[in-house]
Amino acid sequence: MTTGIASNLETVRQRIIAAAQASGREPGSVRLIAVSKGKPAADIQAALAAGQNIFGENRVQEAKSKFSELRAVSPGLELHLIGPLQTNKAVEAVRVFDVIQTLDRPRLADALAAAIKKTGRNPLCFIEINSGEEPQKAGIAPREFEGFLAYCRSLGLNIDGVMCIPPAKGDAAPHFMRMKEVAERHGLTHVSMGMSHDFETAIRHGATEVRVGTAIFGARP
Ligand SMILES: *Cc1c(COP(=O)(O)O)cnc(C)c1O
Repeated sequence: MTTGIASNLETVRQRIIAAAQASGREPGSVRLIAVSKGKPAADIQAALAAGQNIFGENRVQEAKSKFSELRAVSPGLELHLIGPLQTNKAVEAVRVFDVIQTLDRPRLADALAAAIKKTGRNPLCFIEINSGEEPQKAGIAPREFEGFLAYCRSLGLNIDGVMCIPPAKGDAAPHFMRMKEVAERHGLTHVSMGMSHDFETAIRHGATEVRVGTAIFGARP
């Protein structure tokens, strides 16, 4: 259903503008990441044709196979990894992605540092924080953030943001507030938070990147 994508995108863009303005922010300070995981290349092409050029994917292999051709014809395209990354895929991830949002443990930092050395590519990285301290979720524990940030920087990683997925239940606002606070305290530019169901709340609390899939591309199988 590629036909609905352009109008869905327009609706999401308008909602982003409205949410930004309602909290006294510049609409241009919020970047929309279209999450195309599980969706075919045709859907991505429809979004590109509608002026969207930042995309998020969860898996290295899927992103590589869908985006390598699209990249060749869309020079402005920017690709973010938003799913968990295994250390043995670090080299591939560094080659495929412009931004890695899910840096969440020392061993992965080591693997990325080695991958950067090997490939000569140095993608921007965000540190994923497990803001709700949920055992089943990825992300560094909030109390370990500061030490982890220092470690990543000592390896030469290009860290300039945080990312979180708050608990599915309950109010996300306190999590979003804490993320913004952490970013500000450490001088980090990017705060990636907010999905289809809560991106307006995230914008109200200072998100600079919102990751929206379903509201643009429809439900995933
Ligand atoms: C799938 C996913 C999204 C997009 O979720 P929607 O609810 O479809 O907007 C955002 N962030 C992450 C990390 C995801 O895995």
